[in-house]
Amino acid sequence: MRTEPASGAGLASAAAPAAGLGDPVGMLPTVELAPHQARLLMHRAGGTPVYAYSRAALRQAVDLVRAASVPDAEIYYSLKANPHPGVVTALASLVDGFDVCSLGELETALNAGMPPEKLLFTGPAKSAGEAAAALAGGVAVTVESPRQAALFAETARRLGVGGRAVVRVNTPYPGRTSGAAPSPNQFGVSAGDTAEVVRVLRASPLSLSGLQLFWGSQYSDAEVIRAARNAALDRAASLADEFGLKLAFVSVGGGIAMPWCDRDPAVDWEGLRSDGPGPGPGPGPTADGPLGPATVVCEYGRSIVGPAGVLLTSVLDVKTVDSRRYVLVDAGMNHVMIASRLVAGAGRGEPLVRAVDPKDPGALSPAVVTGPLCSQLDVLAQDVLLPAVDVGDALMFSGVGAYGPTFSPSAFLSRDEVKEIVF
Ligand SMILES: *Cc1c(COP(=O)(O)O)cnc(C)c1O
Repeated sequence: MRTEPASGAGLASAAAPAAGLGDPVGMLPTVELAPHQARLLMHRAGGTPVYAYSRAALRQAVDLVRAASVPDAEIYYSLKANPHPGVVTALASLVDGFDVCSLGELETALNAGMPPEKLLFTGPAKSAGEAAAALAGGVAVTVESPRQAALFAETARRLGVGGRAVVRVNTPYPGRTSGAAPSPNQFGVSAGDTAEVVRVLRASPLSLSGLQLFWGSQYSDAEVIRAARNAALDRAASLADEFGLKLAFVSVGGGIAMPWCDRDPAVDWEGLRSDGPGPGPGPGPTADGPLGPATVVCEYGRSIVGPAGVLLTSVLDVKTVDSRRYVLVDAGMNHVMIASRLVAGAGRGEPLVRAVDPKDPGALSPAVVTGPLCSQLDVLAQDVLLPAVDVGDALMFSGVGAYGPTFSPSAFLSRDEVKEIVF
């Protein structure tokens, strides 16, 4: 079936959605749940609010991003986007490796069965404890400054281990549209520091085995994504040439968006697909080119898990204030920060929300969906079209599988944490 259009009216469509996945063309494969299936998931979780992540949608999203990546690239998943152990375990057999950026994520990744050779420990400022744990765990580490190069060199000597260093190259973030100005950032080694980092690593027990050129997040335009990726490949090749590097690993970013508000542009999947009618994802490196036999990696978080997750929440109250209909639910910004007024609203529109099993799905009128918190920020959807709902009915936010519970201020107001299940 088709994914419903990204508009308020479409999201509260009269047709009861069938179980399964939406059509991935244009939009991401947003999870569709039949009312009965949604009710069973809420019972399985022991109530609401609950995030439910679909294994079938994870599989479909990985297939999509693979087809939209550099041909033959390995696909890495960044646990930052969703570190739920069930999600990470499901992804361990679907992707080729994981990016981790904390000791907690490192443990989750290893416990999910991903071998240490397929893990990359990233982060712009690593502590001595993190450096030791990463090298002791046998995972590759990104080196993001001369000071970090010295820290890893010293740590490897002290532990009596080698280790694989991946130099993260500072890479500006492209503008959202072709030709727009790039913006600077704090990540990775600046051009002026590269020679020093290479020198320190070469004098250390670590091998300088890779480069990482990550150039940002939440891009939808195939031209912009392709240009950023190709620039990353070119820059990696010229650094390999300049410093005589024998690279085993070159990560050229990911950057594909998760559309989860009604004004977010759809990702141009057709334009990115290597087998589609568009210009495709761009060329991969050749074995006799400057990158030699290096494995090219594309790394993604939100585009893999975002579409796979829904948030189910129960209506606690309904009231009219100054002729505005308020629907108050048991999920708050402490569970779904990305729907709060600190992230959603204004230019990017409203989160995609619908009633799970409305009695009269056709009669739509505007509603403000708010959480239970004593905060004006706890508005989860402003003036969206919803059918009549009553206390005990369920609403479903879709496309919220990334940057959910762990991105939310769960301690705010000392309330219970949101539940999470994988199905
Ligand atoms: C955050 C991050 C990712 C994942 O980003 P998404 O936009 O969620 O795909 C990948 N790689 C690095 C280095 C990151 O910091």
